[in-house]
Amino acid sequence: MTSAARLDALLRPQLAALKERSLHRLRRVLEGPQGPEITLEGRRYLNFSSNDYLGLAAHPALAEAARRGLEEYGTGSGAAHLITGHSRAHHAFEEELAAFTGRERALLFSTGYMANLGVASALLKRGDRVLEDRLNHASLLDAGLLSGARFARYAHADVTDLRAHLGVTSGSTLVMTDGVFSMDGDVAPLPELSRAAEAAGAFLMVDDAHGFGVLGAHGRGSLEHHGLSPDQVPILMGTLGKACGGFGAFVAGSEVVVESLIQGARTYIYTTAIPPALAEAGRAALKLLQSEPWRRDKLRSLIARFRAGAAELGLKLMPSETAIQPLLVGESVAALKLADALRQQGILAVAIRPPTVPAGSARLRLTLTATHTEAQVDRLLDALRQGGRG
Ligand code: PMP
Repeated sequence: MTSAARLDALLRPQLAALKERSLHRLRRVLEGPQGPEITLEGRRYLNFSSNDYLGLAAHPALAEAARRGLEEYGTGSGAAHLITGHSRAHHAFEEELAAFTGRERALLFSTGYMANLGVASALLKRGDRVLEDRLNHASLLDAGLLSGARFARYAHADVTDLRAHLGVTSGSTLVMTDGVFSMDGDVAPLPELSRAAEAAGAFLMVDDAHGFGVLGAHGRGSLEHHGLSPDQVPILMGTLGKACGGFGAFVAGSEVVVESLIQGARTYIYTTAIPPALAEAGRAALKLLQSEPWRRDKLRSLIARFRAGAAELGLKLMPSETAIQPLLVGESVAALKLADALRQQGILAVAIRPPTVPAGSARLRLTLTATHTEAQVDRLLDALRQGGRG
């Protein structure tokens, strides 16, 4: 047997086992732009499975900004930020992000995943500790695990359990949490977490991938929602691929924190800067966040409409007030069956299964966006009524 054939023979049973357990994952090819209605493999669907919360992913202002960026800078950044890849577009965007978040500085990363790994790699060393919510996003958990610091998880959103873990700290302790939990949609108890961290001499970092742009009167995210200052949450991570409709991520903090990331975050130093045109698209998104608050208002009213309708149907919704409205199903096979039944009615609601969520808690992760209409939300509710019977 060739070595390639031996490798395939080794992997094939593992893939078969995933299929057997309804845990095999499938990609469907999207044709055309992201939006409330999408075309997947030639079929049109009403889409409740994106993170395009404000409907900016296909907004013409972002495309126009990117086009201008392409003309000015070309496609590739050509190098890492610390070599020659840090363009005026990147720099201006960082300054605007710092101003918007009310921090001294902000630093662009290629993805949220890399931003989280970068923070942990730069700020933690062996002997330090990292404490994380059990339901944190995989990238935060990986960041903590790979940092080399002592790693522990506290019970979900449980400040008492966090306090027990904090105990007396020695060395640095970083507490990392999602601001809005990505698969559950609930909001982390940030004021209590920040008080607990403060009292123990630890530092709190919030990953606001699902809050930034959406929560707070001005869209500044979870911290604005809770009325928290940069002093209470020294490290803020936000992503640009969700409410901002683009790509990339940033970390905002003090001059010293950001400078420490530039010097020490391996996922910042050793990677190519995002295309400057994408930084220009991000700048356009940041302007829209501020000039079009109606998007957040509309989203909030659709969330309320969906929750009221779902309650009438007696559906098992999770306690979320955000755009993420998961419908708990339980077993993976049942979640796939419900997703299939909805798909047959022209509705896309992707089933989320372990290991993304804990065993026995497979769900449809329904998401609403500002560009859905009330009629579309009602169609989802109708389909769920039918789907529940199917
Ligand atoms: N953090 C959270 C909470 C997320 O949900 C995600 C993306 N799903 C990320 C980080 C990673 O962001 P990115 O997609 O930019 O890598």
